Amino acid sequence: MTTSQYNSQAELQTSYDAIVIGGGHNGLTAAAYLARAGLSTLVLERREIVGGCCVTEEIAPGCRASTTSYIASMLRPEVIRDLKLAEYGLRMIPCDPAIQVPFLDGQVLPWWADRERAQVEFRKLCPQDADTFVRVDDRLKKLARYLQPFFLEPPPEVDMRSLAGWSETVRVGRRFRGITSREISELISFLTGSLGEFLDLHYRSEKLKTLFLANNVYGKHGGPYQPGSALGLLFHLLSGGEHELQGFYGHVMGGMGAITQALAASGQRLGVEIRTAAPVAEIDIRQGRARGVTLEDGREVGAKVVLSNADPKRTFLTMVPSTELPQDFVDAVRAIKMDGPCAKVNLVLAEEPRFTGTSPNATPLQRTFYTLVPSLEFAERCYDIAKFGEIPEELWVDCVVSSNADDSLAPIGKHILTCFVQYVPYRLREGTWDEKRELLGDRVVKKIAEYAPNVPRSILSRQVLTPVDLERTYGLTEGNIFHGDLRLEQLFFMRPVPGWSQYRTPVRGLYLCGAGAHPGGGVTGAPGHNAAHQVLRDWKKGKLRTSA
Ligand SMILES: Cc1cc2nc3c(=O)[nH]c(=O)nc-3n(C[C@H](O)[C@H](O)[C@H](O)COP(=O)(O)OP(=O)(O)OC[C@H]3O[C@@H](n4cnc5c(N)ncnc54)[C@H](O)[C@@H]3O)c2cc1C
Repeated sequence: MTTSQYNSQAELQTSYDAIVIGGGHNGLTAAAYLARAGLSTLVLERREIVGGCCVTEEIAPGCRASTTSYIASMLRPEVIRDLKLAEYGLRMIPCDPAIQVPFLDGQVLPWWADRERAQVEFRKLCPQDADTFVRVDDRLKKLARYLQPFFLEPPPEVDMRSLAGWSETVRVGRRFRGITSREISELISFLTGSLGEFLDLHYRSEKLKTLFLANNVYGKHGGPYQPGSALGLLFHLLSGGEHELQGFYGHVMGGMGAITQALAASGQRLGVEIRTAAPVAEIDIRQGRARGVTLEDGREVGAKVVLSNADPKRTFLTMVPSTELPQDFVDAVRAIKMDGPCAKVNLVLAEEPRFTGTSPNATPLQRTFYTLVPSLEFAERCYDIAKFGEIPEELWVDCVVSSNADDSLAPIGKHILTCFVQYVPYRLREGTWDEKRELLGDRVVKKIAEYAPNVPRSILSRQVLTPVDLERTYGLTEGNIFHGDLRLEQLFFMRPVPGWSQYRTPVRGLYLCGAGAHPGGGVTGAPGHNAAHQVLRDWKKGKLRTSA
């Protein structure tokens, strides 16, 4: 949808019950829940389109790509149902194989969505690993189920000096009813251990280990041997998709933007007003309380409650005057680890990429998703290079031939190849990203050519999004795709910063509703859902109703 579809010429009201800064998927989710509860709600988005980094954009005439996020895995089934997203056009089909890794010896290793089929495939490589896989998968799924309920509720603020703190402890305790001491120690080792060591301990086949690596440190800082990286194994087993499948991976028909278009349409039906090309300059605060916002064009709009879908650094370091915040809070926000570490390259091709080793009988859907990472050691080295500010010569690239899953994305004969690049620095040791953008694009194409040799000669158009482009275009501070790295010390009751995990902020009436809040990044809708419910609880208690 474009600006005109959001009626940007009409006068804004002088005041709303709620203003949501940012029309990313979480902002739209929060707005829809607030409107459903009867609050007059305005969404102000700085870009010409809504969606944040969950969008479909035209990258060449008639060719559309999910320019940023590209796979839907953890979109909350509750959000899909509550906001009736299917009625507003959302349709996902499971990726099958869920993941697929081609190797330079010509073998393509699929991880089929059906576990028995996956096991048969793994057995060909190593029978013992195939048995281990089932045991480990059962254990991981069981552990993930303990964490699942926390996804759609505020994390506990445990403070044993107060009655509220004690009752929070009891609330958490209940979630773990029935857990055994063995499971507690397993949970702790997943939260703190490394993925690499876990895989080395349990599996023999290097290829299988690489397959299990492929989606589990996605978007994060740190190679597979970094402590805390095993957490991804559990994170990806939280259920997603409309049928609540554990480990769901989906292609969205019409690209990822179909999710945010459905959210926007659902919200508008519930009464949400949306304005695009409407950047907010400042959150207006009087006597320690948010009273509305001032747009960059000088317009002021009042509100009883303000929710920010922008990341925590952008929200608190650029939109809130520092005099309105405690210094220790400002220091904690400044210290949030963001700093890249990913990029995206979107290609329009004159022919379908042909990945060596793909079965001639593979269906288009089976020829859609390829992760190019040859080994754990390769991944570890790649991160090491990037962490010192250099662009690795050899890159880890996740490739989705999205036009194979949805042929409406490109005219007949053309193909969309969207490529996620894991491990590039936000801060370059030498030069700038404006100087190095095409070098990154060239390295990505060179890597793909090792697996799909026909790609370089069939490129019709190329879009390279460096971490700096993600910051400039999509408003992601330091290019961080999750509004803050997903690491243990930045999760749960420590997200966005310790003491402020329940969507409230030191400014009364100001809430955080984006990926920088619990449970974090990814296209889940969870922070938006949880923040809206927190606002509604406070609203019902009468804490927010006094004057805009
Ligand atoms: C390259 C890339 C690949 C990814 N791949 C995947 C994937 O495959 N699967 C997955 O689940 N997740 C993926 N992610 C992560 C996921 O997309 C994000 O974590 C998630 O979409 C964040 O959603 P959000 O609504 O919280 O924030 P955002 O989408 O960042 O939305 C925030 C919105 O606020 C707006 N805004 C900021 N400041 C202002 C202001 N001052 N005034 C008005 N508006 C403002 C921004 O323009 C933006 O629209 C990817 C992200 C990127 C960038």
